Amino acid sequence: MKTAICPGSFDPVTLGHIDIIERAATLFDRVIILVMTNSKKEAMFKTEERVNMIKRCIKGENITVDTYGGLLVNYAFENNADVIVKGLRAVSDFDYEFQQALTNKSLMPGIETVFLAASGKNMFLSSSMVKEVCQLGGNIEQFVSPEILNDVIKRCKGEKNYD
Ligand code: ADP
Repeated sequence: MKTAICPGSFDPVTLGHIDIIERAATLFDRVIILVMTNSKKEAMFKTEERVNMIKRCIKGENITVDTYGGLLVNYAFENNADVIVKGLRAVSDFDYEFQQALTNKSLMPGIETVFLAASGKNMFLSSSMVKEVCQLGGNIEQFVSPEILNDVIKRCKGEKNYD
């Protein structure tokens, strides 16, 4: 039984994230989407909102969502995870991701990082790009799932809560 973790800030979850997570779910027995709460980036959505949006967009028998504020390898150890799955977009992702993968490997030799290549259409898609385009009034339909589209638009227009 192989367990994979897909960590990230998911602020908000995009079609790029969904693509990587669904592909990971076909490769591993169990996938944990881990919303990291210790991000240096200031989030637009609260942790519970990010989790709630992910649950509305991604459904799979072997996929669960969790949150964590500590060191990723500690979570992996506590949850018997074997693999960390990351999506790789342009070359610009590579340096940072490689550094993280090597650091995690030295902290926990049993953990492997697996990189999945971003799909062509998602190559330049990021949560920050979605927020920026939306805040400037652009159409983000092609970037986020229809289940959360209105919530993202509302928040980008400055409304505090969407629930
Ligand atoms: P972002 O970089 O959009 O803020 P996160 O920090 O939430 O995203 O990233 C979580 C994981 O999802 C990372 O491994 C990242 O490389 C991957 N990812 C994000 N956007 C995409 C995309 N468009 N295609 C493939 N993987 C992606």
